[in-house]
Amino acid sequence: MSGAPYPNHLRGALVQGQFVMTVEVTTPAATHPLDAALAPILALAGEIREDPRVAAIALTDRSSADRDHDPIATGHRVAEMCGKAPLIHWAGKDRSTADLETDLRRAASLGLDNLLLVTGDKVRRPPLDRPVRYLDSVNALHTVRQVAPTTLLAAAVCPFKYREEELLGQYLKAAKKLRAGADLLITQIGWDMPKFAELRWFLTGRGYDVPLLAELLYLTAARGRRIRRLGLPGVTITDDFLRLLVEEEEAPDRGRASAYRRLALQIVGVRHLGYAGAQISGLHTYAAVARLLDAVEQCAQACPTLDAWQGAWQEHLTAADGRTVRVAPADGFYLTGGTPTEGPAAASAGEYATFKTMELIHRAGFQEGAVGARVFGPLLRRLDGRTGLGGLLLQAERVIKEPLVGCATCGFCRLPETAYVCPETCPKGLANGPCGGTQDNRCEFGDRECIHNRIYRISKKAGTLSNLEEVLIPPVPDAAWDSCSWVTHFRGEGPEAVRLTTPTKGRAAPP
Ligand code: SF4
Repeated sequence: MSGAPYPNHLRGALVQGQFVMTVEVTTPAATHPLDAALAPILALAGEIREDPRVAAIALTDRSSADRDHDPIATGHRVAEMCGKAPLIHWAGKDRSTADLETDLRRAASLGLDNLLLVTGDKVRRPPLDRPVRYLDSVNALHTVRQVAPTTLLAAAVCPFKYREEELLGQYLKAAKKLRAGADLLITQIGWDMPKFAELRWFLTGRGYDVPLLAELLYLTAARGRRIRRLGLPGVTITDDFLRLLVEEEEAPDRGRASAYRRLALQIVGVRHLGYAGAQISGLHTYAAVARLLDAVEQCAQACPTLDAWQGAWQEHLTAADGRTVRVAPADGFYLTGGTPTEGPAAASAGEYATFKTMELIHRAGFQEGAVGARVFGPLLRRLDGRTGLGGLLLQAERVIKEPLVGCATCGFCRLPETAYVCPETCPKGLANGPCGGTQDNRCEFGDRECIHNRIYRISKKAGTLSNLEEVLIPPVPDAAWDSCSWVTHFRGEGPEAVRLTTPTKGRAAPP
């Protein structure tokens, strides 16, 4: 049963091609008493109700803590106060497909029909009594799109990656998210404007005519220092940029005017770059939001063209000593009109030899019609994957594949779809591409290279990069864990990877 939906200004603006603004607020941690924590958010929502310049309030999920207050119930309170459909973020961290389906039903019953589906950053305090699993955003998007075809679905992308592997991993996964059902993409926070342009260029060049929203933060020196100290996955604040923020902090207003101007300039800039809108974060009161919106109007009048805007942005990034402030790392990788295959990243001889060996074994032993399949298939089909001979095979699989590829005996082997790099060697178990947390090609958890870099390099050499954009790898079914995947394979059990088609144009339109 569906509740009466709230007026959906976000969808309306996207459909009409109007530049759209949303204001992001942080859903309080579950440890904070809800009513007290929600009071300032509801006050903001009440004032935004009357301001046609803001289309929606966006509510984060599991970002301030591992457990925030329920995003659906919180979103409902905000919708009641604001009178506009909010954009509810939903993170797959420490959640399953069943959790998503439950929350989707609850959202529908409350008339909430805008969702941003993300995988989520790493769980900071993992429980000791069970493993933490992450529902990959691609799988979440695909699930929701199947059961709720009219929900407005947003997905995240981080263009602020400065190595070829991590950047293309992001972009190809973003394309997969669109194929899986996303109606629009929202970027990570950043200040590198050429990267905003690059993302637009990449998607348009591949035929993805999709609305893009830029996530933009009101940034002061104090906040910059805090982000660098605590780390915000996917957010880059260079030393040089921080120095500029510290210079601004010397002003009598502690740099507030500069922070508003920077944010207003960015909003006008992304508009000139063809973005459909901006999601503003870091402003907690309506007075602050209204001050920004006024600044945006002035800035738009002063910078009516992209050229005029570029001059103003260049001036903003000029330090007191006259040098241009670097907001991106030196020697960062950019796509400058070429194709991904022209970048420098290349699989090592060892990486590629392992891939070819594994591929050979798969072709000879497991593919339909292969010798191994014909000889062993009929026997394995009759086994149980945990007991008797199947149990012995499970032990054998563990002994062989754990040292070889880091196998976690998930019971649903996805190696042929992941260039024979086990997705369980990703701490989040992600199979469909990298999360947004990489930095300089390193994993968000800091202890390894992101496994999706290797998948990218091997796929590039093998000429199969399109798989990273098109092939949806389903999540491991709960029932499959700790069973022999060879048995599952020959029994034809478990979900299958599917090749996703190009998304339909203009899907954000109402039904
Ligand atoms: S391996 Fe890559 S995708 Fe997995 S958690 Fe680390 S950064 Fe994210």
